[in-house]
Amino acid sequence: MSGASQGPRAGKLGPFRGRVVYYKATRRGRTFVKVARDFPSSQICSACGHRDGKKPLQVRAWTCPDCAVRHCRDWNAGKNVRYEGRRILSATAPPTPGPGASRR
Ligand SMILES: [Zn+2]
Repeated sequence: MSGASQGPRAGKLGPFRGRVVYYKATRRGRTFVKVARDFPSSQICSACGHRDGKKPLQVRAWTCPDCAVRHCRDWNAGKNVRYEGRRILSATAPPTPGPGASRR
């Protein structure tokens, strides 16, 4: 079935177009954000933010001395990079006006 007919004069492109642009903008933001190269992603506890210092590469898992959460090294690093990316995004980019967002 075709769910495209919401009324003869709804305008085919209007609401749709806005949504697509918003989606693209969001994706671009996510794709292009970069964290600093020396960001110590594998040294920071992704649960509480405690910085535990450098670890030899053979350390695959460690337990945060601060909050006692056990981390898999790569998972923890991945989480930290994602958090950092989000932090950079929210610090640099103005809030993206989405559909339904009321801006003055
Ligand atoms: Zn912790």
